[in-house]
Amino acid sequence: MTTFAETVESLRWKKFPVLDDGFVCLVDVMGSDAAVVQAARVSYGEGTKRVSDDRTLIRYLMRHRHTTPFEMAELKFLVRVPMDIWRQWIRHRTASVNEYSTRYSVAIDAAHRTAADQWRRQSNGNRQGSQGLLPADLGAELSAEERELQDRAREIYQRRLSLGVAREQARKDLPLSTYTEAYWKIDLHNLLHFLELRLDSSAQWE
Ligand SMILES: Cc1cc2nc3c(=O)[nH]c(=O)nc-3n(C[C@H](O)[C@H](O)[C@H](O)COP(=O)(O)OP(=O)(O)OC[C@H]3O[C@@H](n4cnc5c(N)ncnc54)[C@H](O)[C@@H]3O)c2cc1C
Repeated sequence: MTTFAETVESLRWKKFPVLDDGFVCLVDVMGSDAAVVQAARVSYGEGTKRVSDDRTLIRYLMRHRHTTPFEMAELKFLVRVPMDIWRQWIRHRTASVNEYSTRYSVAIDAAHRTAADQWRRQSNGNRQGSQGLLPADLGAELSAEERELQDRAREIYQRRLSLGVAREQARKDLPLSTYTEAYWKIDLHNLLHFLELRLDSSAQWE
């Protein structure tokens, strides 16, 4: 049977593709089921060892929202996402973040491009969400316009840099579709909270 350490090793630095040029990649893990169980047993005392195995105890904790033991395990990811998505992601304050700096470095030369058949319609029911797709022929026009806009914005950015404009100012008109990268570290409890909110059927597709 594969051990926990072997599973982590097989996933570490493996890039799971997201959108057209993004990824999510596990960098490090601290703690496992054992860390959660160990913390819970400090609360409940040795008695729990007799009445429940680790799996049952974890399920009990989850059911009763006894959440702090889940904060004993931490996960660190490297993510590459467009800035408009990152703007939502960064709202989760319980993570530690280090983001690629476009003040120190030239902005990543990649922007999220929308395929012709992926332009979503505004939802009537959910004012923040989308529902259904626009026809692909109209989508092709929108995708062509998007490409033109992104290419032009990049050209202007590069021109500003070549003329000596500071990177911190040259970047101001880059589109929100520009990709950024960040290390994102979060404990298991808050990761589950993040996933619960962002995978909800009423959450925006983005
Ligand atoms: C579908 C959806 C739509 C959204 N729409 C909007 C929008 O229109 N406009 C907008 O501005 N945001 C919007 N958000 C962002 C949302 O308001 C939250 O900022 C974001 O989801 C982070 O959630 P959180 O605070 O629970 O997570 P975290 O920041 O990770 O915090 C986790 C938990 O820690 C506790 N906590 C953290 N910081 C504090 C604190 N300072 N004080 C008290 N408790 C704290 C809370 O219990 C919190 O639930 C939306 C989010 C979703 C999922």
